[in-house]
Amino acid sequence: MTYSGFRVFWEGLRGNKGWRPVWRDPDPKAAYDIIIVGGGGHGLATAYYLARVYGQARIAVLEKNWLGGGNVGRNTTIIRSNYLLEGNQPFYSFSMKLWAGLEQELNYNAMVSQRGVLNLCHTDAQRDAYRRRGNAVRMSGDDAELLDAAQVRQMAPFLNFDNARFPIKGGLLQRSGGTARHDAVAWGYAHGADKLGVDIIQNCEVKGFRIEKGMMRGVETSRGYIAASKVGVAVAGSSGLVMAMAGMKLPVESHVLQAFVSEGLKPTIPGVITFGAGHFYVSQSDKGGLVFGGDIDGYNSYAQRGNLPVIEDVCEGGMALMPMIGRARLLRAWGGIMDMSQDGTPIIDRTPVDGLFFNGGWCYGGFKATPASGYCFAHLIATGEPHPTARFFRLDRFRSGHVVDEKGMGAQPNLH
Ligand SMILES: Cc1cc2nc3c(=O)[nH]c(=O)nc-3n(C[C@H](O)[C@H](O)[C@H](O)COP(=O)(O)OP(=O)(O)OC[C@H]3O[C@@H](n4cnc5c(N)ncnc54)[C@H](O)[C@@H]3O)c2cc1C
Repeated sequence: MTYSGFRVFWEGLRGNKGWRPVWRDPDPKAAYDIIIVGGGGHGLATAYYLARVYGQARIAVLEKNWLGGGNVGRNTTIIRSNYLLEGNQPFYSFSMKLWAGLEQELNYNAMVSQRGVLNLCHTDAQRDAYRRRGNAVRMSGDDAELLDAAQVRQMAPFLNFDNARFPIKGGLLQRSGGTARHDAVAWGYAHGADKLGVDIIQNCEVKGFRIEKGMMRGVETSRGYIAASKVGVAVAGSSGLVMAMAGMKLPVESHVLQAFVSEGLKPTIPGVITFGAGHFYVSQSDKGGLVFGGDIDGYNSYAQRGNLPVIEDVCEGGMALMPMIGRARLLRAWGGIMDMSQDGTPIIDRTPVDGLFFNGGWCYGGFKATPASGYCFAHLIATGEPHPTARFFRLDRFRSGHVVDEKGMGAQPNLH
């Protein structure tokens, strides 16, 4: 199945009867070379790059629910690479480069829209910190601009500039940042991987690992035992549960993060805007809805729904930043399960079990990482060595003290 403008036109003339499923629906085989656990963005991207870049075959992705039902289809869709630290910046920069050509590569419309990400600052100290981060971004070859208050006002005149408590002093703008349609990214990678022969198996929950003498042999699933000598786990919010089945306790905790969508409004918000004095970020979807979010719910949970105090907190942030948002009606809210690492930085690494690889700890920032995460995890699984841009994402860094404590991550993930 190949998509093109001509195809859309042709199908329109034929009553749209020629469209086929975006990926096959195969039954699991008895054995594969490589199994990826988790059919989210990271798992599907890993399978795709394993097949396309690293020439691997006999790959299966096992997903316990349906594709796009996890965080990949629940996030607020922001992509950017404005990170500060050496451990992170090159990795997210690599991801943005992959985003830029992703739709052509996958032949799938993921609505990647590089319409800019603006982080607002409200104090002199915050502006200095943004200047430093922006310089780090530019030194790595990516774009960043420090705007003063007048420039921000020109871009977003509806913001509350004269709020006595949180006056807007300027902002750090990354024009190459933006948004992508979240679940279409999962569908696009599934489409691309399926075309390369990857078996994508939904409704197949991994319930245990078969490990003999420290070596991976295969996985026990809700659809029977499947053998594989290499297994990559990319299950985001379920990381702790799944890795516990291999006898591992991770430096990761699961929390709920909520997202909100308003009724459709006329085009108002030019790109992504984030509040620097609270945890609130907003963009506008192509259908006109304001898509926004804030902080995680402050308790551990595996439920994909959150509680009212956080909704109140997020709305307070929105009202402080742009009081006009108070007149919009909230249409939808949902939650996803975040795999919060202790320094806010992810893990892409081998494990003590030979043939078992782990990808997780993405906190609330893993969507933008999807292409690079899949690429680097595929590199690790195929070669046994970390990809150079992901070499800091080690599992043992909490023991050795080499944490990557990144403020560019968002609001203090290390405090959760
Ligand atoms: C509300 C919200 C807003 C967010 N906003 C942003 C944002 O704006 N920008 C950004 O960069 N990031 C954002 N994130 C974070 C981002 O969505 C996640 O970090 C990222 O999607 C996680 O990777 P994934 O796509 O592979 O996860 P998922 O889509 O959750 O994939 C994991 C999959 O593993 C499956 N699974 C679990 N256990 C098993 C098992 N035992 N067997 C088989 N399968 C299993 C699950 O069903 C799931 O489908 C947000 C997240 C949320 C919830």
